Amino acid sequence: MNLIPLPAFSDNYLWLLQHEGHALVVDPGDATPVHQWLQDQQLHLDCILVTHHHPDHTGGVSSLQAAYGAQVHGPALETLPFEFQAMNESDELTWRGLTFKVIAVPGHTAGHIAYWAQVPDQAPILFCGDTLFSGGCGRLFEGSPAQMLNSLDRLAQLPSDTRVCCAHEYTLSNLKFALAVEPANQALQAYNQHCSALRQAGRPTLPSSISTEAAINPFLRSREKAVEQAVKHFAGSACGQSEVEVFAHLRQWKNEFK
Ligand code: ZN
Ligand code: FE
Repeated sequence: MNLIPLPAFSDNYLWLLQHEGHALVVDPGDATPVHQWLQDQQLHLDCILVTHHHPDHTGGVSSLQAAYGAQVHGPALETLPFEFQAMNESDELTWRGLTFKVIAVPGHTAGHIAYWAQVPDQAPILFCGDTLFSGGCGRLFEGSPAQMLNSLDRLAQLPSDTRVCCAHEYTLSNLKFALAVEPANQALQAYNQHCSALRQAGRPTLPSSISTEAAINPFLRSREKAVEQAVKHFAGSACGQSEVEVFAHLRQWKNEFK
């Protein structure tokens, strides 16, 4: 079982799993790099997973569906411009002996879902679309801070060695913000150096892991004293005491951060 990030647009990854001549692709916003890869590697595409309705995640689906007859799975609570199997919280699907479990993660969009699977002899895999990024999280276009906090909490509870396959290479800019929030976090400093070296070598910083994100991502750490204090310093008296308010102001801070 091979896991491959195909770069697309300016900073998307179209994640692809391949096994014995068969492939699965996640959020193919552009069909061209997928067609190309399948041809080069002589693979048949049998399955497409979609996390949410944004065009950079769905634009290539129809073309791939038509060319390969691939089964498409997508969020039951969103409208998509192609035929797909509607997936709800806790639903499962199998591909080549892998069972993917669906986790509802509203926040970035109202019906956003993630897919998690145990992989024989390898670490588990999470396809989380635009919900969890390395060092960050998605913008709240349709959901509330409470929903996003709950969604991230659920992802944080997955096995710590889970490979986190985010849909965008936003890591370095996220880490710049994370360091502004938690300048004394040594794991974060080390991770920033590691990721800077990867980018300088032209390599992806992903997949990350749940354990890494738990140590460095301020959006998974909003209950940590240091993060809470930094947020309250930023927001002043506008920030109330609840976890959700702290999280909301953390997200607001990131929106304004340059
Ligand atoms: Zn999106
Ligand atoms: Fe996106």
